[in-house]
Amino acid sequence: MLFDNSYNGLPQEFFERINPVPVQDPQLIIFNDNLAKTLGIDESKTRKQLAELFSGNVIPKGSSPIALAYAGHQFGQFVSQLGDGRAVLLGEISTPEQKHYDIQLKGSGQTKFSRQGDGRAPLGPVIREYIVSEAMHALGIPSTRSLAAVTTGEKVYRETALPGGILTRIAESHIRVGTFEYFAAQNKIENLKTLAEYTIKRHFPLLKDSRNSYLSLLELVCDRQIELIAKWMGIGFIHGVMNTDNTSIVGETIDYGPCAFMDSYNPSTVFSSIDAHGRYAFGNQPSIAHWNMACFANCLAPLIDQDSDKAEEQAQEVINQFPNKMKVALMTVMCKKIGLKSTNSNSQETLQKLLSIMLDNESDYTLTFRYLSEIIKGKGNTLFKKQFLEHKQISNWLKEWTDLIKDQSLSKKEIALSMESSNPVFIPRNHLVERAIEAAVENNDFSEMKTLLAILNRPYEEQSSYSDFMKPPKPHEVVHQTFCGT
Ligand code: AMP
Ligand code: MG
Repeated sequence: MLFDNSYNGLPQEFFERINPVPVQDPQLIIFNDNLAKTLGIDESKTRKQLAELFSGNVIPKGSSPIALAYAGHQFGQFVSQLGDGRAVLLGEISTPEQKHYDIQLKGSGQTKFSRQGDGRAPLGPVIREYIVSEAMHALGIPSTRSLAAVTTGEKVYRETALPGGILTRIAESHIRVGTFEYFAAQNKIENLKTLAEYTIKRHFPLLKDSRNSYLSLLELVCDRQIELIAKWMGIGFIHGVMNTDNTSIVGETIDYGPCAFMDSYNPSTVFSSIDAHGRYAFGNQPSIAHWNMACFANCLAPLIDQDSDKAEEQAQEVINQFPNKMKVALMTVMCKKIGLKSTNSNSQETLQKLLSIMLDNESDYTLTFRYLSEIIKGKGNTLFKKQFLEHKQISNWLKEWTDLIKDQSLSKKEIALSMESSNPVFIPRNHLVERAIEAAVENNDFSEMKTLLAILNRPYEEQSSYSDFMKPPKPHEVVHQTFCGT
């Protein structure tokens, strides 16, 4: 691995230099060969060597591990110091294409940011993050990636004793809105400026020449969030903990905790056991992203203009654009799912009608849209209609929709292709992920995980031998709650 550790060059308040705490008996669960290739990582190591490396027992040459400092709003409440309490950044690696990625071990032992925590991760959440982050990537959603997972040979103690694991995470950045909040809350303007400059130089170099690069940074980060959340909504993803410390500045999905996928459509769906009031419910995600960006704007204000009134006015203007831009992005994603252009006002109305019927009928979010695309391919509407308990309303809707499709100047083939590429067949359904976790934790059996990963690697393709993996859970398989990774 070729390391280039630019974050270590920042002032010392930005991080703690700390090595991973070695573990007893690391065993490799999985190594992502394809990702390793794109990163230019030498794959000629034995499983034992990989286990040593990705457990933190051996520190690769050129790495200079650090734990990053950050703060964050958790469920709306500001916490002035969070930071990597169970993770270390090994460094930044450069790929053969001269791209730069962070490589981080998660579950690697205590740091000065651990507060009461043990710095470790149970195996279950490691498996969940590996599966879901890789599935998200294959679905075309910006996301951190998973390079490796190991078991530690040690127990972690939660309500019961659980096997421990470590995940190796690859991210374009580990800078979060909470990193800015950390310095803004302390009124350390010099550090705030250093962080903003670093962020621009590393992630948004084109902003260097803009008239007010900090204002442009705010706008660009908002745009990335809008694009990301619209994509989440399109596939029924619920992050579960959209705190500002889990909001990446580059717009990647980060920190897979109690995340989950919606089976039947309902905007108020919540799975996370810690989200008692549904703050991060499926349908709230766009407005929460807006709230998070307002927090980011507050941080940047002192850099945007020395005159605080002027700064506030300019930042507010960007934030005020958020809801409308979000709506446009969301409509683009959602109308594409029904094969229509969002710019046509009829499309949006037709979409809303469908969603309302789906809500009443508890229709499966994934299958309903997928089977709709199959109608265009001449496969009939039986499977689509099966997603509804009552057929009269949906039959009327289908007539209306068919007329709109005909009105478009596109061929059926083009429409079908476009719809299929935005309506997956396979998503990491909660019951499937839980099943893979159970096999891993109870029996040290990772075959379910690997099968699931292979299917989810091609989410938009029909894979006839895996039709069971398309199906929503049977009543006894339904997952009602998910838990955070701590
Ligand atoms: P998360 O819920 O993963 O976003 O974590 C929120 C905060 O709690 C972060 O600062 C984590 O580093 C910290 N944290 C979570 N789990 C642990 C743990 N087991 N030990 C120490 N810190 C932790
Ligand atoms: Mg976090």
